[in-house]
Amino acid sequence: MKPLNPKPSTDLSKDFHAVWHPCTQMKDHETVPPLLIERGEGVYLYDRDGNQYLDVISSWWVNLFGHNHPRLNSALKAQLDKVAHVMFAGITHQPAIDLATRLVELSPDNLKKVFFSDNGSTAVEVAVKMSLQYWRQTGHRNKTKFAYLKGGYHGETLGALSLCGIEMFRDNFEEVLLSNLEVEGPDCYRCPYGLKPDTCQAECFEPMQKTLKEHRDSLAGVIIEPLVQGAAGMKMYPPVYLKKLESACQRQNVHTIYDEIAVGFGRTGSLFVCGECELSPTFLCLSKGITSGYLPLAATLMEDEIYSAFYDDFATMKLFIHSHSYSANPLACAVANESLAMLTENDFLDTLKPKIQALEAGGKRLVELKWVGDFRQTGMIAAVELVKDKGTKEAFPFEDRVGYKIYQEGLKRGVLMRPLGNVIYFVPPLVISIAEIKMMMDTASECIRAVLD
Ligand SMILES: *Cc1c(COP(=O)(O)O)cnc(C)c1O
Repeated sequence: MKPLNPKPSTDLSKDFHAVWHPCTQMKDHETVPPLLIERGEGVYLYDRDGNQYLDVISSWWVNLFGHNHPRLNSALKAQLDKVAHVMFAGITHQPAIDLATRLVELSPDNLKKVFFSDNGSTAVEVAVKMSLQYWRQTGHRNKTKFAYLKGGYHGETLGALSLCGIEMFRDNFEEVLLSNLEVEGPDCYRCPYGLKPDTCQAECFEPMQKTLKEHRDSLAGVIIEPLVQGAAGMKMYPPVYLKKLESACQRQNVHTIYDEIAVGFGRTGSLFVCGECELSPTFLCLSKGITSGYLPLAATLMEDEIYSAFYDDFATMKLFIHSHSYSANPLACAVANESLAMLTENDFLDTLKPKIQALEAGGKRLVELKWVGDFRQTGMIAAVELVKDKGTKEAFPFEDRVGYKIYQEGLKRGVLMRPLGNVIYFVPPLVISIAEIKMMMDTASECIRAVLD
C-alpha cells in the first residue's frame, strides 16, 4: 500500500485502509487526503488542527441553519430523552404527526398526505412506486414508464437512477435500468433557440410536449427538478417551463413528480418552488434541508386522488407495501419540526433578500473574469460556469479536472467548495452573512485565477 502524502496522520491512514467514500476516486486520496473534520459552528467547519473552512456547499446541500445550532441541538436532545426510534407501522408518534401536519399546511393545497422515508432516493422511489400502483389499480396497466429530463438527477438507487439523465451516473448500470424516456430539456446558457430565460416562453418544452403526446398511454408520470437541475451543474430554467408541463400532463393524464429534494426549504428564497410558482404537482419529494442537515429523513407528499385509490378493505390488497426501517425516525422528525419552525417564523425568508442581492453582486464581479462564461442564480443558489472561450462557450475537457483543482485552492484559503465539473456553485447555509457571501465569492475568484490564469 502506498503511503499517504502529505505526511499521513494515524487517523487518515486508517481511513485509507478501511473506508470507501462516496462519489470519490479513492486513489486521489493517495495525494490529497480527505479533510478530517472535528467540529462545526455556524457556517464553518473545523479540522483537527483548528483550521476553519466556510461550508459553501451546506455539506452537500443539506444544511440551512449552520452547524451545531443551539435550537436544533435542544430539539434533538429533548426527543432523545423520550425515545430514539420506533417502527412506524402500527405505531405513530407526536414528532411525525406534527411534521406531517405542517408539511401539508405549508405545501400546495392539493397535497394532502405525507409518506415518510429516510433519504432523497427513497422519497423518489416511493413516488414512482405509488404512481405505478395507482395506475394499475385504476385500470391503466400500460402506464409503466416515466419521462425525465436530460441532466435530471433524482438519486442513485437503481430505481431512482433509472430516472437520471446524467451519463456519468448511469453508464455502468445501463443494462439493468428500467426503460424510461429521456427528454431534451432546457439549456438556458446554450439555448438552441437563441432565447433568454427571462423573456422566452419555454420554447424548449417542445420535445416534452411531443413525448407526452406520443407516449401518453404508457406514461405514468414525469419527474422533474423544479427550476434548478442541481447535479447537472446547477442548470437553471424559468417557471414558464413548469407551467407548460403542468397543463400538458393534466391534458395527457400523466402524473407530475416534483423533486424538490435540493431546492426545497428556502433555498430558492421561498419555502417550496411549487408553492411559489402556484403549481400543483401530483407528488412532491422532499429531503436534504428537511432536518437542516442533522439527520436522514425524507417525505413524499401526494394528492388525495392517489391516497384514495389505495384506501379500501384489506382484502382488496390495495395497500402500499413499502417500508424502510427508519421511516419517520422520531429524532429526525423532532429536528425537522424545529427547523421548519425557524424557517417559517419572524419572516425568516424575508431576511434572505439582501443575501440574494449580495450573491448577485458577487456573481456580477465573477462574470467579468476571462474564464467565467455564465453566472446563474435562483434565490440562494448561485453558480458560475467556466469556459475555455467565452465566445464559443467551449468547455474545458473533463480530464483537466479544473473544478477539482479549484476545490484544492479553496481549501488552502479556508473555503470548502465542491465544483461539479466546470461549474463552481454556491449553496451556503441560509444563515450565512453578507460579509461571508462577499468573502466566499472573492475567494472563488482568486481560486479560479490561481488555477486558470
Ligand atoms: C440529493 C438529491 C437526491 C437524492 O437524495 P439522497 O438523499 O442523496 O438519496 C434526489 N434528487 C435530488 C434533486 C437531489 O439533489
